[in-house]
Amino acid sequence: MRVKCVLCDQTDQVESFSLLAKQLRKRRKLSYLCDACHDRIANKTNERKKSSEFKLYEPEKEDDYIK
Ligand SMILES: [Zn+2]
Repeated sequence: MRVKCVLCDQTDQVESFSLLAKQLRKRRKLSYLCDACHDRIANKTNERKKSSEFKLYEPEKEDDYIK
C-alpha cells in the first residue's frame, strides 16, 4: 500500500497487511508522517519541551483504588 506524507508529499510503501496500513484504512490514524518528518518534529518538540513556555498536558495517573 502506498502512503503519502502529509507534510512533504513524499510517497512511501507500507506493507499492505501491517498494523499501520490497517489503522490508516480504518481511519484510526488519520495521517501518515514519513520518518524524516517524524524525527524532525520529534526533535523540535523535545527542544521546546526544555524551554519553560511549553506545557505538556499529560493524562493523570490512574488511582490504583479506582478501576
Ligand atoms: Zn514527510
